[in-house]
Amino acid sequence: MIDPFGRRVSYLRVSVTDRCDLRCVYCMSEDMTFLPKAEVLTLEELDRLCGAFIGLGVEKIRLTGGEPLVRKNVISLFRSLGDRIGTGGLKELTVTTNGTQLVKMADDLYSAGVRRINVSLDTLDPATFTAVTRWGKIDQTLDGIFAAKAAGLAIKINAVALKGVNEHEFDRMLAWCGEHGFDLCLIETMPLGEIGGDRTDQYLPLSTVRTRLRENWTLEDSDYRTGGPARYYTVRETGRRIGFITPLTHNFCESCNRVRLTCTGTLYMCLGQDDAADLRRPLRDPTLDEAGLQEAILEAISRKPKGHDFVIDRSRKTPAVARHMSVTGG
Ligand code: SAM
Ligand code: SF4
Repeated sequence: MIDPFGRRVSYLRVSVTDRCDLRCVYCMSEDMTFLPKAEVLTLEELDRLCGAFIGLGVEKIRLTGGEPLVRKNVISLFRSLGDRIGTGGLKELTVTTNGTQLVKMADDLYSAGVRRINVSLDTLDPATFTAVTRWGKIDQTLDGIFAAKAAGLAIKINAVALKGVNEHEFDRMLAWCGEHGFDLCLIETMPLGEIGGDRTDQYLPLSTVRTRLRENWTLEDSDYRTGGPARYYTVRETGRRIGFITPLTHNFCESCNRVRLTCTGTLYMCLGQDDAADLRRPLRDPTLDEAGLQEAILEAISRKPKGHDFVIDRSRKTPAVARHMSVTGG
């Protein structure tokens, strides 16, 4: 699949549910309305759609959400996708999770074929964790992280940089990640969805964070890529990597190789644009076979835009994109 700007689309992110057991302040409002269950594709339908994408050249699939691991029986989707790794055409199956379910699911994820996971952890401070997630308990996520490590999964910690909230913690987090063998990826807040607060209060440019980190750490340029938008450095003192995802200070669209599928079968060709394609209709159309479904996918790819136009400024009262990250899948 090649888009109109010559970029090869080989990475599919799938939001398997818009629901979550936490309510992170930058992601959701406290009283979120979730999709009626009837609108959500079954796990079998999601598997069929993913299969059509793999047939068109998708090599990497990340399941995300909402919290992907709270969807009932989601492990069956991991297993069926895991069966396609190798000769089935898929090279990598991975997941982004808040870690709360990992104690019970880490071994199953490994046996389904998952080898690397991203776990979101914005702070190491229990009180800050509860404040950011609105009611989460840090021990549940930390226990999950260590269960995943024990299961043999490589771990990358994702932390959203929040002004005045966790900005003084990054040295400590980098040391903690080094100690336990985790990579760390810092993310700027993106203006997605109403969250019941002012985002300009949260926004912290990562250029500032990087400069501050360099006072204590040697960040060596690295050409490591994961197929995602992060820019990586190797931390000489720990030997681990640190990545920076900077949608606002640096436009990462030139090398974009991915599209995003929601749990209702809507395909977003860009995280930061509203244009989308409905794949649920062709998926449920009994007159269409896999080739018909793939035709609908290719039509959508032909509309993939050049890039997003996120801005966070005080004069703009509404988010750049109305839907939440939990809908499109972060
Ligand atoms: N629930 C899972 C988790 O938290 O890892 C997966 C879904 S979550 C939407 C995926 C990632 O998006 C998380 O790392 C989260 O911190 C990030 N995220 C959510 N809203 C964001 C926003 N407005 N700006 C930047 N990152 C955001
Ligand atoms: Fe849930 Fe993840 Fe959003 Fe936090 S970032 S509210 S854990 S979906």
